[in-house]
Amino acid sequence: MQLTVWNEYHQERSDPRIAAVYPDGIHASVAAGLAEYFGANAGIGTATLDQPEHGLTEEVLAGTDVLFWWAHLRHDRVADEVVERVRRHVLAGMGLVLLHSAINARIAEALLGTSCRMSCWRHGDRELIWTVEPGHEIADGLPNPIELPAGEMYGEPLDVPAPDELIFITGYSGGEVLRSGCGWRRGRGRVFFLAAGHEEYPIYDHPDIRRALGNIARWAAPATPHRVIEARVPNSPEGWWRDAPSVPEPVEGQAR
Ligand code: ZN
Repeated sequence: MQLTVWNEYHQERSDPRIAAVYPDGIHASVAAGLAEYFGANAGIGTATLDQPEHGLTEEVLAGTDVLFWWAHLRHDRVADEVVERVRRHVLAGMGLVLLHSAINARIAEALLGTSCRMSCWRHGDRELIWTVEPGHEIADGLPNPIELPAGEMYGEPLDVPAPDELIFITGYSGGEVLRSGCGWRRGRGRVFFLAAGHEEYPIYDHPDIRRALGNIARWAAPATPHRVIEARVPNSPEGWWRDAPSVPEPVEGQAR
């Protein structure tokens, strides 16, 4: 399995408070967690916004089974053609995992078709992540609930389409709740939103969150490598079957 972790990688370089939490960037922590989970069974690459084509060339995406996406303040800096490229690959079967504020990324809107906005938010809130689909592969090996002493509240209604699979609901200290682990099928691909992952706290270093990320990667990966089909088959002329070779007649004496 080949995994690519994409990160905006802006606050870790511009805000010393965030740099202290993720000195090598959020993508490095997510990639380290996935490496821990998969060992030699997965190749893991990273890509960031400032790279040419944001590090998401046709070649990188063609070789990616599951793309993780973390972003917060620079959604509008992602080039239209990269959003469209990622969308094509998801429809062809590549998995996409929207991490935390990436639910507001343009790729989320492009694939889910709604604004993807939450109704409210509050930094520093305690998160209780409840599994509502016990026995689901994404919940495998996770405590119920996962308790994060500090994260960020995102409140419902969250403007997303009803998920095809709902795995987690998070409760917050103010009584708010969120569908915080949602899966959708889009074309031949799978999309998952994991709400946990606010940048002010080392949430992607947490062992339970790392396990959830690995489980999600397994769920989101296509059974066989995905392939974007670009070529269109030309229309056949009307009556094409009249000139088509007919089914051969059975040879005399041959068993029918
Ligand atoms: Zn946040």
